[in-house]
Amino acid sequence: MYQATIRRSVEFEGIGLHTGQFCRLRLHPEDNKGIRFIIRGEYIPANYRYVVNTKNSTDLGKGSVGIKTVEHLMAVLYMLGIDNLVIEVLEGCEVPAMDGSGYLFYKRLKGLVQKLDKEKEFIQIKDPLVIRNCTAKIEALPSDHFSAEYVGSIEGLLKDHRAKYKGNAKGLVFARTFCYDYQVEALRKAGLAKGGSLKNAVVLGKNGNVYNTEGLRCKDEPIRHKLLDLIGDLSLLGKGIKGRIVSYHGGHSLNYEFVKSLAGL
Ligand code: ZN
Repeated sequence: MYQATIRRSVEFEGIGLHTGQFCRLRLHPEDNKGIRFIIRGEYIPANYRYVVNTKNSTDLGKGSVGIKTVEHLMAVLYMLGIDNLVIEVLEGCEVPAMDGSGYLFYKRLKGLVQKLDKEKEFIQIKDPLVIRNCTAKIEALPSDHFSAEYVGSIEGLLKDHRAKYKGNAKGLVFARTFCYDYQVEALRKAGLAKGGSLKNAVVLGKNGNVYNTEGLRCKDEPIRHKLLDLIGDLSLLGKGIKGRIVSYHGGHSLNYEFVKSLAGL
């Protein structure tokens, strides 16, 4: 299996979900050195070593510069097999929220994948590995192929529902970010979700009601989104994974702990 980049430069722009700022990125082909963001002349590798925050989003930083909410774009890059890229941050300091999912990244990038003459690097899961916190756990199981699963619940809608990824990016990329109505005020008070609206996020009520007039894109859209987040966070390992990864109610913080454990194998 070979590494890949993109054929030509591509731009994405829009409001950042948490900062509310207008953000603009330009992705450039690269034939080595993995995926790196460049912000005001400073390179930040898309690697777990540069994670500076995992509360409500996965953010990278180095010195005085940083880039927020990298997980949806990173998930799309991982699923497309793109592992070398320079992502120039032209405006703002967050990956644009787009429609709250990875769909627009996927749509623009899928036809631009360019194979490189370089073998892809993998971490092979040889023995089961489990990491947990008080409410969640993530396990890695041996397999010759990458697959990921997320088991989660949506209040009033789904209980311990399992979403699976076995190579079909289309089944995940459309799933939008979400929150519950009772979380909105707390997020805003924490200075987050400043760019959040019903145009780029699903807002759910406790009884399973959906505030967005168009409803959900599929019944388990929020669970699929959690799986998208997981894959984006796993990509920060900086290598492909040969193994079956299963998250039970995990979030960005546990994903990050898990990636650090994988890196130590
Ligand atoms: Zn997300």
